[in-house]
Amino acid sequence: MERDPICGQVIKLSNMKESSVYRGSRYYFCCPICKKLFDDNPEIYADKEEKESTKTIFPQLTLFN
Ligand SMILES: [Zn+2]
Repeated sequence: MERDPICGQVIKLSNMKESSVYRGSRYYFCCPICKKLFDDNPEIYADKEEKESTKTIFPQLTLFN
C-alpha cells in the first residue's frame, strides 16, 4: 500500500491515478491538489516520507513499488 506524502492518506491500489516520480521513487496522491503540492516542492515531502518510511519495518511493502 502507498501513502500520500502530502496528507498521509493511504492510497488504494485501485485509486492510483495521481502519481509523480521524484529521485527514482514513485509517489501516489489522493487527488490532483496533493500532486500539485508535491510537484511544487518535492524535496520537502519526499524527505519527510523517507524519514517516516515504514518500508524498513515492513520490507514486503516494497513489492508494490
Ligand atoms: Zn492527499
